[in-house]
Amino acid sequence: MDGYDVIVIGVGSMGGAACKTLAQRGVRVLGIEAFTPGHDQGSAHGGTRIVRQSYFEDLSYVPLLRRAFAGFRTLEEESGRALMTLCGGIYLGDPDDITFTGSRDAALFHGLDHEVLDAAEVRERFPTMAPAPDALAVYETNAGYVHPEETAIANAEVAERSGATLRLRERVRSWSATAGDGVTVVTDAGTYGADRLVLTPGAWAPVLLDGLALPLSVERMVFHWFTPDFSAVPYEAWSSQRHPVYVEQTRGNGQIYGFPMTDGPDGGFKLGYFHLGTPTTADTVDRVVAPEENEAMRARARQLFPHLTGPVVQSKTCLYTVTPDEHFVLGAHPEHPQVALGCGFSGHGFKFVPVIGEILADLVTTGRTEHPIELFDPRRAALAGVRGR
Ligand SMILES: Cc1cc2nc3c(=O)[nH]c(=O)nc-3n(C[C@H](O)[C@H](O)[C@H](O)COP(=O)(O)OP(=O)(O)OC[C@H]3O[C@@H](n4cnc5c(N)ncnc54)[C@H](O)[C@@H]3O)c2cc1C
Repeated sequence: MDGYDVIVIGVGSMGGAACKTLAQRGVRVLGIEAFTPGHDQGSAHGGTRIVRQSYFEDLSYVPLLRRAFAGFRTLEEESGRALMTLCGGIYLGDPDDITFTGSRDAALFHGLDHEVLDAAEVRERFPTMAPAPDALAVYETNAGYVHPEETAIANAEVAERSGATLRLRERVRSWSATAGDGVTVVTDAGTYGADRLVLTPGAWAPVLLDGLALPLSVERMVFHWFTPDFSAVPYEAWSSQRHPVYVEQTRGNGQIYGFPMTDGPDGGFKLGYFHLGTPTTADTVDRVVAPEENEAMRARARQLFPHLTGPVVQSKTCLYTVTPDEHFVLGAHPEHPQVALGCGFSGHGFKFVPVIGEILADLVTTGRTEHPIELFDPRRAALAGVRGR
């Protein structure tokens, strides 16, 4: 059973991409996953994830995003699955809010295809929206959405086809690193050995990285699907033929984000708060969404989308794993160089999936990567605190 070069714990968004890349490079890889690819218990379900490049979070993400976008197209070709739709993206709010200023700065600095629109131009172009009169927006062409479940399944399929072994519905109980090379992983079904380890357990990172005491906060997030009033603004204006993805913040009232309708007129218009989650754990999270949560979200969303007055189609919970500075944890384990960490994606990791897979594969095979990952150093000062925010 031994004889693996690398074990990957958690074949979700990032672990799936790592398994695929490692297998394609001829590495003997074993991926261990508690559920099955595309499951809805972690951070990667709900049908859609925003992809965008004018990144207000930090300019240094942009080269990684360019690489990731290419990686999604490659994965589409390899898997035969349609994963990414570029319907455009709009980031709007107060003229001095980071949603607008950060997006504009990233677009200008990296020469990304974009336009700046005022509130009247936004209303004119996108009749679903009624931004505040002084709001400003960046409209970006190279933005849209990917399908997280399909992406996870595609990575797992291509990984297996390329020679990876995946053990599904098997939970890792513990892992240990031996001096020098070598790791041992104990699951509820057996014990496995390998030279190296990739740890990508998503919201279970506080459990599997207990010894490291990283300040990770697991948060319960909700996405909601509302029915618009099609008599006020026709369906076509809400659909991905005409509607962009968006992030909005005005008057300090909480950043929201969302998607065009992707499943026909009955599928609902999906949106949520970008932050403002409730602290929880992956094993104890309350997955039931209360009617009051839906109505509070609707009240906030109607500040931008006044015609979101119809029934709630559905709502679902999802988990963020958040670091104090909201940048990722990506790099060698501070105590065990044969272990690569990929966690703490802080609610914005999915759009990076293909490039994170490459980076983890680089780190675990060569100990370094050409990609810029200084911002994500597991030893950075922002992670030196205690757990929880
Ligand atoms: C509501 C919501 C909206 C989001 N929107 C966006 C967006 O629009 N754009 C964007 O870029 N990102 C978005 N994200 C963030 C993005 O989805 C995450 O950053 C990303 O999915 C994290 O990937 P991961 O591999 O760390 O976690 P996961 O995909 O959850 O994978 C972790 C895997 O590890 C497995 N695992 C854990 N413990 C064990 C164990 N002991 N044994 C075996 N397996 C184990 C789990 O079962 C799971 O499959 C959103 C997230 C949420 C919740």
